[in-house]
Amino acid sequence: LFARPFVFIKGCVRIADLPPADRMEIAFAGRSNVGKSSLINALTGTTGLARTSNTPGRTQELNIFESQSDALRIVDMPGYGYARAPEDKVKQWTRLIHQYLTGRPNLRRVYVLIDGRHGPNANDATVMNELDKAAVSYQIVVTKADKPNKSELEAALAKTRAAVAKRPAAHPEIILTSSEEKVGLEQLRAEIRQLMEH
Ligand code: GDP
Repeated sequence: LFARPFVFIKGCVRIADLPPADRMEIAFAGRSNVGKSSLINALTGTTGLARTSNTPGRTQELNIFESQSDALRIVDMPGYGYARAPEDKVKQWTRLIHQYLTGRPNLRRVYVLIDGRHGPNANDATVMNELDKAAVSYQIVVTKADKPNKSELEAALAKTRAAVAKRPAAHPEIILTSSEEKVGLEQLRAEIRQLMEH
């Protein structure tokens, strides 16, 4: 599945721009700067696929990537909580995210990225609420595990586990990753392969 690089298909600013729902999609969501672009690049082994950049104008779209070897589509969601973005833009992309997450029939799972230095914040909780309400499957991926020291990481993990334990439904186990040190990527790939098979 990850043998060949992924290709960028398009950026969507409206639901109507999305490609047809003709193959399995997984989406990656998280606050801006959580390490989403780095993770997508590392996971797919495709350098420069998702932009490792925090420029608001370029990150307000649903960016669509497709595997060249299998019927898998990756949707890179706009990073949330970007402090400097104008309010009307925030509203526009909050609506886009909401519509996508709650109304996409081929969306198989959302990977919700949580920063390994901090644990979840209010925005992450909001996203988990929406996903639980819409009964969309999601899995937490802790990012940048190489950055915090051991006790900081343990504290962030404990907070993350507590936040997930509070959810009304059960969720798959938390995956610990570092794009920098290539930790957890094989586990994440294995999870995605399993989704493709079932
Ligand atoms: P995005 O805004 O969520 O797409 O985040 P980026 O992928 O652009 O990463 C934000 C910053 O965190 C960049 O400076 C990255 O180099 C850094 N970063 C991302 N992943 C890792 C990681 O696994 N380890 C470390 N140490 N830094 C990372």
